[in-house]
Amino acid sequence: MSSTPFDLIGRQLTPFFPPACAGCDGTTTGQRAFCSICRPLAPELRSPNCRRCALPMEAFANHRQSTSLCSRCHTKTPAFDTVTALWEYDDAVADAIRRIKYGRDLPALRALCRRAHHWFHDTVDALPGDGPIVPVPSHRNSLRKRGFHVPSLTLRYLRAAECRRVSHRLTKTVDTPRQAGLSFDERYDNTRGVFAYRGPAPTTQSAIVFDDVLTTGATADAAAGALREAGYQAIAVVALARAPAPRKPHRRRS
Ligand SMILES: [Zn+2]
Ligand SMILES: [Zn+2]
Repeated sequence: MSSTPFDLIGRQLTPFFPPACAGCDGTTTGQRAFCSICRPLAPELRSPNCRRCALPMEAFANHRQSTSLCSRCHTKTPAFDTVTALWEYDDAVADAIRRIKYGRDLPALRALCRRAHHWFHDTVDALPGDGPIVPVPSHRNSLRKRGFHVPSLTLRYLRAAECRRVSHRLTKTVDTPRQAGLSFDERYDNTRGVFAYRGPAPTTQSAIVFDDVLTTGATADAAAGALREAGYQAIAVVALARAPAPRKPHRRRS
């Protein structure tokens, strides 16, 4: 994606107007997303993680164990092969992403992407194959309500099209309730069969599912499942942030 006049002007003005922090009204420096006060509240994802879903596994005490699967992936293999995420979805990062989604805080999204840009391109370059990046789609009703699509806009800010083709052939055909507040099982029930691939058969074996956040992995699993049904055989998930541990169920199933 080429630079717009606004990008060029922004770069010229950066020395005079330091970049905004994604977490507060303060400013930061260089390619950082958060100021020095917010940064400790925005930890990046640390290993050891589940080798499939990247769930941080505090119990894994050594390198050999760090190649293991978490109990969820051990019980039921997700439709995706790997997950790579930059931040833990917690504290300042979770606040920033909620403000972006529900408050249209686009300066915060720009700040996250400023830090994530090189990480994203290095991550994609390291993935096998040359398949497209597929943003997790929203249903048209929520797009109409929100006015923008967070994963697609994030990919634009990350200049994703410079490293891979971005495909919008995956659509969300069912207007599901919001995932927030649902238990692990409810999230899987809520996303089962809600995505459909539209278009000709894939010409590559691999694809990359992109979302801003991965919490339980239910949405990414459903999106990857639809891509597998379409013919993709190797599916990686890339997300800005990943929930650090299983969320306490809001409601318990009887
Ligand atoms: Zn800050
Ligand atoms: Zn796992």
